[in-house]
Amino acid sequence: MAESTTSEGAADSAHCFAFCSWHREFSSSAVLARIIEQQSGPGVGMYACAPCREKHGLRPVGEQ
Ligand SMILES: [Zn+2]
Repeated sequence: MAESTTSEGAADSAHCFAFCSWHREFSSSAVLARIIEQQSGPGVGMYACAPCREKHGLRPVGEQ
């Protein structure tokens, strides 16, 4: 069973592959960073990858 040679994400297995709403690409480091409240229906979750969280000072939902 060969280990994959990915250079990132090895220690972030808890994070799922998600679409970063800030740089608008999929990232393996994206986590739920903001929930947009809507007047009707449930809030919409926005995911941010690690670099974008650092760049924009975002924190994962649940740590705020
Ligand atoms: Zn991003």
